[in-house]
Amino acid sequence: MARKVLVVGEVREGGLRNVSFEAIAAGKLIAEGGEVVAVLIGDSVKELGNAMIHYGADRVVVVENDQLKNYTTDGYSQALLAVIHAENPEGIVLGHTALGKDLSPKIAAKLQSGLVSDCVDVEVAGGNIVFTRPIYSGKAFEKKIITDGLIFATIRPNNITPLEKDESRAGTISTLDVEIKDLRSVIKEVVRKASEGVDLTEAKVVVAGGRGVKSAEGFNILRELADVLGGAVGASRGACDAEYCDYSLQIGQTGKVVTPDLYIACGISGAIQHLAGMSNSKVIVAINKDPEANIFNVADYGIVGDLFEVVPLLTEEFKKIKV
Ligand code: FAD
Repeated sequence: MARKVLVVGEVREGGLRNVSFEAIAAGKLIAEGGEVVAVLIGDSVKELGNAMIHYGADRVVVVENDQLKNYTTDGYSQALLAVIHAENPEGIVLGHTALGKDLSPKIAAKLQSGLVSDCVDVEVAGGNIVFTRPIYSGKAFEKKIITDGLIFATIRPNNITPLEKDESRAGTISTLDVEIKDLRSVIKEVVRKASEGVDLTEAKVVVAGGRGVKSAEGFNILRELADVLGGAVGASRGACDAEYCDYSLQIGQTGKVVTPDLYIACGISGAIQHLAGMSNSKVIVAINKDPEANIFNVADYGIVGDLFEVVPLLTEEFKKIKV
């Protein structure tokens, strides 16, 4: 059954986040041969429309407005609802990011529809669109179908492979004028706390430190390893609580959820709340002095040793491979 599916692109610092392209791939599956319409919301985002088409969107609808420069729930929900009412889609896909987690429940409530959140896989099986999502902090997976009405889902970054970029793909980019009104909050300034570099939730490699790193300076050797691998630095709550790093780096149940190709846990014991944020990583390497540490139960490769010896050695070896 061919469907029209809206895919919301996510813009950060003037560029599209990868999850936008992953959402197009999910949208294509849900559309089952129907039309995938990308939605871009912001203050000057039209020029990003072509990238959405190159990654598989058939058409792009842009809502531009000064008041949409920064994300607010009120502003973006007004813009997205206007596109939904104009396009009348049978499916909607967003990234399961901070923005998607905030916006999608509000939209679902307004439309009185269901929502399947945090999907790590989408497939067509037995005539249904089947979503896979982790439950019980990633210990099990459930498969869900929507039997009636709008097929509305958010997808976890780094899980669904985008289509190959093809610059010969063509499609139209149109603008929808939407009056944004009655904003209850206005973003005056965005102050970045996390260090510049690779976005933690989209990184292919994450080097994470725990209380075993022992100090803020101790994180420097983790940053060096992450830099050599083109990855991002993350942390356990233990490390954040001890003020070795900012809470924006926290991974886990009450922090960020990451699914990189490679997760290197350094001096992290592997508490259940930490595992909730990283146990679905494709390959997990754990470095810990304690051979009984719980992190080894989820690790594909375990190194029992002092991280202050092991991490610099790894950095040196990876440097040699990169040269
Ligand atoms: P520790 O448990 O103290 O472990 C430190 C590890 O470092 C030990 O295994 C030790 O053997 C090893 N080590 C020490 N020195 C070295 C060395 N030189 N070389 C190698 N290894 C060394 N935690 C999270 O991470 N994320 C969350 O989102 C989160 N949410 C929570 C929510 C709730 C409601 C609660 C109650 C807790 C939450 N926690 C969370 C906290 C969690 O329970 C743990 O306390 C925390 O993860 C422990 O951090 P850690 O592994 O860094 O520290």
